[in-house]
Amino acid sequence: MDFKLTKEEQELKEYYEDFFREAIKKAPAIFSHGGGFEAIYSDDEGFAFHQKMAKIMGEKGMLSLPWPKELGGADASIMHQLIFNEAREVSRCPGFDFIGCGMFAPSLLVFANDDQKARLLPPIAKGEVQYCQGWSEPDAGSDLASLQTAAVRDGDEWIINGQKVWTTAAHRSDCMFILVRTDPNSSGSRGLSVFHLDMKTPGIEVRPLYYMNGSHVYNEVFLKDVRVLHKDLIGDEGSGWQVTMATMNFERSGMGFFSTGRKVMERIIQYVKTTKRNGKLLSENAAIRKEIGKIYAGLEAGTMMAFRVGCTQASGDMMAAASVASESKVFGTEFSKHIFDFATKVLGLYGMIEEGDATSLLNVVEEYQSAPGLTIAGGSNEVQRCIISWMAPLNMPRWKLMDPAALKR
Ligand SMILES: Cc1cc2nc3c(=O)[nH]c(=O)nc-3n(C[C@H](O)[C@H](O)[C@H](O)COP(=O)(O)OP(=O)(O)OC[C@H]3O[C@@H](n4cnc5c(N)ncnc54)[C@H](O)[C@@H]3O)c2cc1C
Repeated sequence: MDFKLTKEEQELKEYYEDFFREAIKKAPAIFSHGGGFEAIYSDDEGFAFHQKMAKIMGEKGMLSLPWPKELGGADASIMHQLIFNEAREVSRCPGFDFIGCGMFAPSLLVFANDDQKARLLPPIAKGEVQYCQGWSEPDAGSDLASLQTAAVRDGDEWIINGQKVWTTAAHRSDCMFILVRTDPNSSGSRGLSVFHLDMKTPGIEVRPLYYMNGSHVYNEVFLKDVRVLHKDLIGDEGSGWQVTMATMNFERSGMGFFSTGRKVMERIIQYVKTTKRNGKLLSENAAIRKEIGKIYAGLEAGTMMAFRVGCTQASGDMMAAASVASESKVFGTEFSKHIFDFATKVLGLYGMIEEGDATSLLNVVEEYQSAPGLTIAGGSNEVQRCIISWMAPLNMPRWKLMDPAALKR
């Protein structure tokens, strides 16, 4: 197997790397030590830069790479998308709304009617809108199909009542794609539907859910008699589960975990090469060198896993793609935790404080605290392990692992 990029792919890589390297130089100070969700969604200046970058990237067609040409996209190959994602993630440059561009737009391409495509896709491609994802509820996370938020038809409109939770970026969002129960007599995954919802609609209240690192990225969203037009129902009435399952499968390579890991390791390596403890450079410490070597090997393996997800998706085998995406998610999120754990150890006592030169050099305290959430977001790692075990080639029995009653016994 030859892992070398083709000449065209190498040129694309250089083009994106140059673009993001230059772009991030103009970012506000909050991005200078790592960036991430906290810099984008928790900080006014950070979010303004994210919006500015979204418009610049939109003009260059970077937000609609995989879309068909007739809808304003570039029909870009999976390899092209992975190269773009890797360059963007390594730079930690904001501007790409992973919810709107990464999840909702691909769902629209598959399930939306022509009117919806014409109305909803162009603002996403131009970087003019921020989206949030309204799936989880207080009693419906892993068991999403048990959700209770309901929509009742009233002529040309639907009236939504209920509550969503953990909604990333809801306080910064223009729109939400929301999963609700439209058939009151249904249970489980039947009778659910997806709507496109304008966040300025009366009856929506967004309350912050502060994270343990003090940032405001996540929210609770309360919906009281919220009216949405029937024309904003995405897909058929009652097809919400199919739409949602498809949405889950878009761009799940996990490339971001490994690109971020690389960026952090660059900072750690620079730090250990320039910092002395007890008169010796940290880079001379055998235990530190050994761990850095191990992490580097893990990052190389993880990057290959991410490319494998992309290639499996490109092959059209979505069952296999779901399984390898779960493998990449489990490995990537747990490896991220390990990297930040190592980084705080390298800092010694500085690894316990939030302010200070050494800490801000690595920005590890904030990321150390945000990393555990990644093992839960997007489907907990326990559930991802269940998925890996059900799918080929393992083909383990499904019901025994996922039956909630079995968990209580
Ligand atoms: C940082 C973060 C960002 C998020 N962003 C969003 C967002 O933008 N939009 C959105 O809709 N949601 C979002 N979520 C919610 C996320 O999807 C849920 O937290 C996740 O699906 C788990 O659901 P839960 O929190 O209700 O935990 P539960 O489902 O109650 O699970 C509790 C524990 O039990 C385990 N468990 C549950 N069922 C099983 C089973 N059958 N077999 C084995 N183990 C099981 C879980 O792994 C977990 O350890 C976010 C969550 C986090 C932490």
